[in-house]
Amino acid sequence: MDDFSLLIDLHRTNSRQGPGGDAETELALRLCRLDPQAPVKVADIGCGTGASTLGLARLMPNARIVAADFLKDFLDLLEDNASKAGVAERIETLACAMEELPFEEEQFDLIWSEGAIYNMGFEAGLKAWRRFLKPGGVLAVSEITWLTGTRPDEIEAHWTREYPEIDMASAKMRVLERQGYSPIGYLTLPEHCWLDNYYRPIQDRLPEFLSRHNHSSDAEAIANAEQQEIALYEKHKAHYSYGFYIAQRV
Ligand code: SAM
Repeated sequence: MDDFSLLIDLHRTNSRQGPGGDAETELALRLCRLDPQAPVKVADIGCGTGASTLGLARLMPNARIVAADFLKDFLDLLEDNASKAGVAERIETLACAMEELPFEEEQFDLIWSEGAIYNMGFEAGLKAWRRFLKPGGVLAVSEITWLTGTRPDEIEAHWTREYPEIDMASAKMRVLERQGYSPIGYLTLPEHCWLDNYYRPIQDRLPEFLSRHNHSSDAEAIANAEQQEIALYEKHKAHYSYGFYIAQRV
């Protein structure tokens, strides 16, 4: 199994593939100020196995949601979960790269994306997806964000290497404005979204993951990288989190 397949195998059984939480999805949705009963059209981009997609379907009983991700394995699980939750008829999955979405212009009331826009870059994503929103439509995206003005060298160097676009919320707001959005809300994800909802479940599954792959060197390398990422978070969590940006298409 190659590294990519190993990563999918480790993450697919988690309810989330990145930091987040049901209560935070609900709070971000409230900040969108949409009528929850309205028959809105929503795109959830980089949806993974659909934690946010299912949350949105539950919170907006008349919404129709296109759940897009380039990993078919994740979308298959999302479809199973949607059937179990009784919302499958309102969710359409789309296996597609976020850089090549086949959407028509101005078709969505809401574009949602949790922990995924970084894959094409925050500014590039904002620019590419804006045309899919109706005028006045709302974008809600979570993005890795510095919480403090200065940071220890270790974490500054790590994130600058991993994701050079990391910045403070004030700078991200300026990017939103530059790309034709008006910010209407913001929250940061609290610690439990990282530890309880994302990192601890991965850690709990590492022994089983390693034995399933006969402790291959590739599987050991992936497990070590996860543990290092978690240790960095635990040491420096005061300095970064995901910011959730809610903005209206101007
Ligand atoms: N939104 C989900 C959540 O919060 O649980 C998943 C977040 S996970 C950190 C990022 C997701 O983006 C993964 O499901 C991954 O398959 C997807 N992804 C990564 N690069 C992508 C791309 N270029 N196009 C579409 N999806 C992509």
